[in-house]
Amino acid sequence: MDRPPSPGSGATAQAAPPEPLGLDLATSEPIPPEGIEAAVALMRSGALFRYAESSGQPSHVAEWETEFAAYLGRRYAVATSSCGAAMFLALHCLGVRPGDPVLMNSWTLAPVPGAVVHAGGRPVLVETTPDLTVDLGSLRARAAEHPGAVLLLSHMRGHVADLGAVREVADEFGLRLVEDCAHSLGGSWDGRPTGTFGVAGCFSTQGYKHLNSGEGGVLVTDDDEVAARAVLASGSYRLHGQHHSRPDLSVFEPLLGEEPNHSMRMSALAAAVLRPQLPLLDERVVRWRALYDAVAAGLCGVDGVRLTVRDPREHFVGSSLQFFVDDLAPEQVEELCRTAGALGVHLKWFGAPEPSGFTASYRSWLYAEPEPLPHTDRVVSRLVDVRIPLALTDEHVERLVAIVGHAMDRARRVTAPSPAPDPTSDPRRQPR
Ligand SMILES: *Cc1c(COP(=O)(O)O)cnc(C)c1O
Repeated sequence: MDRPPSPGSGATAQAAPPEPLGLDLATSEPIPPEGIEAAVALMRSGALFRYAESSGQPSHVAEWETEFAAYLGRRYAVATSSCGAAMFLALHCLGVRPGDPVLMNSWTLAPVPGAVVHAGGRPVLVETTPDLTVDLGSLRARAAEHPGAVLLLSHMRGHVADLGAVREVADEFGLRLVEDCAHSLGGSWDGRPTGTFGVAGCFSTQGYKHLNSGEGGVLVTDDDEVAARAVLASGSYRLHGQHHSRPDLSVFEPLLGEEPNHSMRMSALAAAVLRPQLPLLDERVVRWRALYDAVAAGLCGVDGVRLTVRDPREHFVGSSLQFFVDDLAPEQVEELCRTAGALGVHLKWFGAPEPSGFTASYRSWLYAEPEPLPHTDRVVSRLVDVRIPLALTDEHVERLVAIVGHAMDRARRVTAPSPAPDPTSDPRRQPR
């Protein structure tokens, strides 16, 4: 097959491929020994449920809620079975009912539109900026169409929008803000933690997030009624008095018959392994940032790789890194991912025709009947993502950068047979 000469061919064409990474990028941190002991003690006792019928010991879940609320500086925390459950509860408790519009980012993961639909809402997708945050112009336009709606704002992959500006739009149009902080726990905007800007903040403690209980989530709020409704709807039976992080019992009284039990509780086992992780979080965030900066510095030197621009007010958690490969055709991006993957660097491409693993495309949320979003399409079409585990050493960082450089070189040698599909065409007419 004829291959056009490409930059970097010649000397590098003969060069041996770099050493494989030698580390699974999806490696999680181990559970701290206190967490393991607490979990084993719970299993010996059999008391894995958060509530005790005849009140006994304070539950790990109740303690975890108090500790988490204090960490963020919010009044109340309600632990849940997942962040998706927390987002559902937030929307439900804010009064989202069948058919109500809910504004949300178009570049985010599937649990976000899933939570909207679960609450009966209708996802209204907002465009994405080249910096991977919500597009304020598009947000204004959608807000003007749906004043008073809920805005479920996702800090996707830890990218935090200008939250001062978001709040201005929200205030102008009476939007109620719920933050999806699944990727931003430990992060902040202009000195203020994410999860404290809206009526409610939702966090994930799923195995790949910043605190790990395998599955789990938390809703935080300062609002008495939202907190009481969330406790009841999460499935507290008539045991809401066993929550420590809650409003006065009098707030619950008028709501008792109003809230269905959706059984979205956190297990005591999950809370037991989470509690000793919380004091380690700030130090982990510092390490993540140092690793992110090292990987970013290396990738800056790779021809054809462009990093996202980050606002100095954004204090982000560098648990993953996103970059653009603007001049590659789709077949070449596939080759980039294939070559890097074979050497242990698992890259994810958000512009792939079908989402895989933890990528997502709004185009695949057919139940949300998405309209085409040309800006988002353009941004994600060449967007690639790599995970940054805390187990990464300096040597791994060097290898990772060399592998991406090598894979970029290989990718450029692939002849692109067809022009890129028009990303602005109707998603429902795209071949799948
Ligand atoms: C993981 C994730 C969620 C959902 O978290 P679960 O606990 O798995 O429900 C929501 N939003 C984003 C951006 C995520 O990455």
